[in-house]
Amino acid sequence: MKLQIKGLSKTYKNGVKALDNVDLEIGTGMFGLLGPNGAGKSSLMRTISTLQSPDSGSITFGDIDVLKDQMSLRKVLGYLPQEFGVYPNMSAEKLLNYFAQLKGIASKEDRKKIIKEVLEVTNLWDVRNKSVSGYSGGMKQRFGIAQLLLNNPKLIIVDEPTAGLDPAERHRFLNVLREIGNNHTVIFSTHIVDDVRELCHELAILNGGNILYRGTPKEAEESL
Ligand code: ADP
Ligand code: ADP
Repeated sequence: MKLQIKGLSKTYKNGVKALDNVDLEIGTGMFGLLGPNGAGKSSLMRTISTLQSPDSGSITFGDIDVLKDQMSLRKVLGYLPQEFGVYPNMSAEKLLNYFAQLKGIASKEDRKKIIKEVLEVTNLWDVRNKSVSGYSGGMKQRFGIAQLLLNNPKLIIVDEPTAGLDPAERHRFLNVLREIGNNHTVIFSTHIVDDVRELCHELAILNGGNILYRGTPKEAEESL
């Protein structure tokens, strides 16, 4: 399904113009949103996720009018915010079981099956009995992915997931994203050029709330 953003603008109360008439079209696969700190990446991600409203513009995902029908969007959305989650002292497996119950997956067998799947995809199966509150930053980020995959989302938005991860953790995380990018629309924001180079089939470069470039990583390297 295609995500289509038109004329999106946002100025915060302090006068900062975080998004300046952004147009962007994003199809299936792994899409990178690259930009330095303060570029407007989080503002754009939060707006697509309907956590904040723009001043003007429109967003559609397939036939969902995202800004008018937030409930429909949320049913198909998986969003991993930039901040690390705070988790209770509970094993990954138990916590996922709890979330799956909240999501209304009634059958114990169904929950078992999906939980095994998401723990394997995120490479956390071996540590499923450990407390999530004791996980490292990288493991918590992967747990965040496991949690959002329970929804079977059509659109996945991850905001600077590799910020603050050491190289080994970062690598593990990128491998997980690569796997889910094969069959989902994933929008991945980062300020690390190598993240995008390794992972994304297309990218946009955002700076000062403006899209400076939109294309493949290869073309970007040739033109910049
Ligand atoms: P990025 O994610 O690329 O670092 P942000 O979207 O977080 O960029 O921020 C873009 C600009 O908007 C920055 O100048 C930031 O300080 C400002 N900003 C972000 N959130 C708010 C807010 N809630 N209120 C005021 N200014 C904000
Ligand atoms: P790093 O390896 O850079 O220290 P990680 O957060 O990836 O950071 O891992 C922290 C510790 O947890 C490591 O000792 C690692 O062996 C262990 N660990 C991480 N992920 C897994 C996993 N999927 N299965 C088993 N152990 C893991």
